[in-house]
Amino acid sequence: MNDSNRVNHWVDLHTHTDRSDGTFSPQELVTLAEKKGILTISITDHDTVAGVEAAKSHIEDRHLKVRMIKGVELSAKSTKGVLHILGYNIDIHHQPLLDSLEKVRKIRARRNNDIVSKLATLGISISEGDLEGVSIDNESPGRPHIARVLVDKHIVDSIDQAFDEYLGKNKKAYVPKKLYTAEEAISLIHDAGGVAIVAHPASLDREGDEFEDYLQSLVGYGLNGIEVYAPLHNQVQIDTYLSLAKKYNLMISAGSDFHGTNKPSIDLGICTNGEKIASSKVSSSLTSDIHCDNHIAFR
Ligand SMILES: [Zn+2]
Ligand SMILES: [Zn+2]
Repeated sequence: MNDSNRVNHWVDLHTHTDRSDGTFSPQELVTLAEKKGILTISITDHDTVAGVEAAKSHIEDRHLKVRMIKGVELSAKSTKGVLHILGYNIDIHHQPLLDSLEKVRKIRARRNNDIVSKLATLGISISEGDLEGVSIDNESPGRPHIARVLVDKHIVDSIDQAFDEYLGKNKKAYVPKKLYTAEEAISLIHDAGGVAIVAHPASLDREGDEFEDYLQSLVGYGLNGIEVYAPLHNQVQIDTYLSLAKKYNLMISAGSDFHGTNKPSIDLGICTNGEKIASSKVSSSLTSDIHCDNHIAFR
């Protein structure tokens, strides 16, 4: 299909499944997207592409209308705030990418052990079985899983409290992460044939010239786009990101960062101010080759 006869529809290019720290299986996620009329989604699990193939087979088996963009989300070092880089349209069989992700997951697993050890010194015991109980079929358990165990054990009342008291940055059981540099994350995505997009840039905690300077440095490493629409962003930020995308010739993306019940305030497809985002608002190169029917668009 070319641009002239493509149908405008809802998109969500940033979602997590239970292959990282979401709660929906890839199959459940694409089924939910179909039900909600979100006809282009991307599964962007942290440090794994394990959910992509499963979702793709499910879409084909069930003849779903939803189209899935292959994705991944990498965490990278930043002197300030949180830097996440999304990779889209990557080759999920690219061996150097798979090897690198596996290495990161191993380091993350060690980090979980270190957090569990710290909790033990605080008199809170978490067993491997406890963690497995909340991450069945899950390749990269992270802090949300530990938080869930703390809730289940009635040590805290909520996931938020688990982070506020124990797991958040510089809290009682905090262990720093090993991360890619921004340049490494972008190169890894490019080498796997993908495009690199900076996720929820408001999390970088930079405004004005400071933000633009930082964005420029990412563009220097080959950044291809910016997630303009994210629930975290206010209208001023959205307008800023749009104008910077134009200035630096960057792709425009949109994503909810859906995590299922691990982040209950985020609904699938709700990418901005409580609203869905139409495909016409994001760069067509991110959502091209859409096959969908008029009558099911914008349900
Ligand atoms: Zn993120
Ligand atoms: Zn995310």
